[in-house]
Amino acid sequence: QLERRDHVGDDPVKVLTEVFGYTAFRGDQGDIVSHVIAGGDAVVLMPTGGGKSITYQVPALVRPGTGLVVSPLIALMHDQVEALIANGVRAAFLNSTQSPAERAGVEQALLDGELDLIYVAPERLSVPATTALLQRAQLSVIAIDEAHCVSQWGHDFRPDYLALGDLAERFPGVPRMALTATATRATHTELTERLHLPDARHFVASFDRPNIQYRIEPKVDMRRQLVQFVRSQPEGSAGIVYALSRKSVEQTAEYLRTQGLDALPYHAGLDAGIRARNQSRFLREDGVVMVATIAFGMGIDKPDVRFVAHIDLPKSVEGYYQETGRAGRDGEPAVAWMAYGLGDVVQQRRLIDQSPGDRTYKLRMGQHLDAMLGLCETVSCRRQNLLNYFGQSSDACGNCDTCLTKPDTWDGLIAAQKLLSTIVRLQRERNQAFGAGHLIDIVRGASTERIRQQGHDKLSTYGVGNDLSEQDWRSVVRQLLARGILVAQGEYGVLAVGDAGTPVLRGEEPVPLRRDVLGRTGGGSSRAK
Ligand code: ADP
Ligand code: ZN
Repeated sequence: QLERRDHVGDDPVKVLTEVFGYTAFRGDQGDIVSHVIAGGDAVVLMPTGGGKSITYQVPALVRPGTGLVVSPLIALMHDQVEALIANGVRAAFLNSTQSPAERAGVEQALLDGELDLIYVAPERLSVPATTALLQRAQLSVIAIDEAHCVSQWGHDFRPDYLALGDLAERFPGVPRMALTATATRATHTELTERLHLPDARHFVASFDRPNIQYRIEPKVDMRRQLVQFVRSQPEGSAGIVYALSRKSVEQTAEYLRTQGLDALPYHAGLDAGIRARNQSRFLREDGVVMVATIAFGMGIDKPDVRFVAHIDLPKSVEGYYQETGRAGRDGEPAVAWMAYGLGDVVQQRRLIDQSPGDRTYKLRMGQHLDAMLGLCETVSCRRQNLLNYFGQSSDACGNCDTCLTKPDTWDGLIAAQKLLSTIVRLQRERNQAFGAGHLIDIVRGASTERIRQQGHDKLSTYGVGNDLSEQDWRSVVRQLLARGILVAQGEYGVLAVGDAGTPVLRGEEPVPLRRDVLGRTGGGSSRAK
């Protein structure tokens, strides 16, 4: 029962106002829309909440034919299509949740030219019959949403996305768009190649969310810290607390309730009715704190979320950025708060080790985790660190914990030199390179099989760093990596001296390192002074 809607016309601004009810395009939206309407391909990198949908929905309405949207989030398709229909847009989806009859209805509407937009899951597109169907229709634009899923090195790889590379051959002459909110430089390059968009224009929005204040602290007593944080927020603030496990979600929500907070649990294991009720209370009422697994929030359009708290360490900076990005979409001040501890790291390393992925995969996951820890352990501006990760630069922001209160540091110059000179010696004298684990074993003077076999106990730097624990050294390595003093290279992540490492080797640059990092918390250890 898809309604017929009169063609709104060729003016994108008119479509924006009359169909979507917005007064003007935001940021790059207008440029993207004009470019695509004119038939150009586009790569769109815009943070969550930036307004990506409009950039393909408007061209789909202006250009003749049906806009094809490839989206991996089947759970969201339904909501998106509902919202479009409510605006009078003729939209439908094709996915595995439909009955054959429903599918047939959608297919007929498509062939009859009665759809403005059709959402399709990537796995559907790899079915030849779907391609054949779409080829019989007239497509106006192809939008590949969550385009970072094509990146094997990213945090959210989906094999079905690899097959999207030949859409240009399957649908010649149809402008294509790749959209994502998670793009490091590497992902950006990779998705452009894999989706075959050599001539696309690139629209890269700033990833800065200036109204979000970033705060990260070591876990000491999580529950007390969380309650203290939530209570420090203005009365009636709505917030999301992210936890990794369902059990922790339930226990934390329960605990917050005993503290007089209006907290509700949300995770995939809860009864659908309870989930819907909790979600609707969160959306409609003031001051509800939703304790949830990371599945919660995708597609939830609540602009006035005042805080996002992480009580478990996210697996990657991309994930952290996406989750914290759900705070303050209305542009008003919001806080992204997190507490992390050694237990998180141990747990995540174990998950990585036990995962079924191959060595390269595990290495990548380890690098994601290290980048996340690098953000936790930075002595400089969090925002700078975060934006730098996404290949964007910024000044110190004045609106994060490290800008507001300079962290306590110790001078890591000597420690850094011990590690760097070990690397240099191994390289010069033996043409060897190693990962962090073995290098730390050398400077700590560990007596491992590998050390004895390689004769590394004969090195002059063997044991020179036994004043620091292994955890301390791990943190030193992460902080040096985050600053480019060290770089990880190749498939095995062997460490080499980075550009910023030369002045350190010469002793020309101080290396202040954070004191309140893993393994050093609480005690205020001065071993390394
Ligand atoms: P993204 O997909 O990039 O996360 P959405 O497309 O879901 O972002 O848009 C985020 C929010 O911004 C939505 O609430 C949407 O209604 C709103 N929005 C998008 N474009 C505009 C605009 N031009 N003017 C006002 N609001 C907009
Ligand atoms: Zn800052």
